[in-house]
Amino acid sequence: MGSLSLQQIRKSFGATDVLKGIDLEVGDGEFCVFVGPSGCGKSTLLRIIAGLEDTSSGAVMIDGTRVENTAPAQRGIAMVFQSYALYPHLNVRDNMALGLKQAKTPSAVIDSQIAKASAMLSLEPYLKRRPAELSGGQRQRVAIGRAVVRDPKLFLFDEPLSNLDAALRVNTRLEIARLHRELSATMIYVTHDQVEAMTLADRIVVMNGGVIEQVGAPMELYNAPANLFVAGFIGSPK
Ligand code: ADP
Ligand code: MG
Repeated sequence: MGSLSLQQIRKSFGATDVLKGIDLEVGDGEFCVFVGPSGCGKSTLLRIIAGLEDTSSGAVMIDGTRVENTAPAQRGIAMVFQSYALYPHLNVRDNMALGLKQAKTPSAVIDSQIAKASAMLSLEPYLKRRPAELSGGQRQRVAIGRAVVRDPKLFLFDEPLSNLDAALRVNTRLEIARLHRELSATMIYVTHDQVEAMTLADRIVVMNGGVIEQVGAPMELYNAPANLFVAGFIGSPK
């Protein structure tokens, strides 16, 4: 469970056409990485999938069902942002529990979900701390943990490692890859970083100016870029 189908997604802000007809099928359990220049519409597309933004037209389908009228919390999706977006006044445990409490999840289930997620992400020592008492890498692990406790079928990551230094980026990337294997959830991941894209992706989606330039496995794009733009982005020597 966790397939995604985007059909002719368009989005305009006023007179600005940001997404110009996006078609994409993401298979159950796939790790799909979006790359593309700043402003090309990656975050807008993730927000549309999550239900945080409406489309101007087009269909978003999760497991074969249209979800445009489904509230974000009901879509089975969890999103992880570059900025962590933790609540500063809540400790780590309460940050992770908040969404489950709002969904009226029984407290025994909340306890077991937090135990599972904090073990997976080595967060047990930090559960009573507030975000301000954590490093950037620990905060991002909490943000990922907050997604994991909800057992989503689809994870959305919007440049989750951009605020971390180089060593932490590698560690956190490996943790995300491990989570993908262990949870067998579908993951959609936006990054600027070519190494992240090449190492994490089953398929890479190259976006530019609100359209998809090419979709393919990392080595397909590297060896056979459809055009100079893709070649430049994926770093083929051609
Ligand atoms: P990316 O994540 O690829 O950098 P975004 O999806 O954030 O790109 O933004 C794509 C374009 O849409 C940009 O030109 C941005 O200024 C514009 N945009 C995004 N959100 C809004 C909004 N709420 N109102 C107006 N313009 C927006
Ligand atoms: Mg963005």
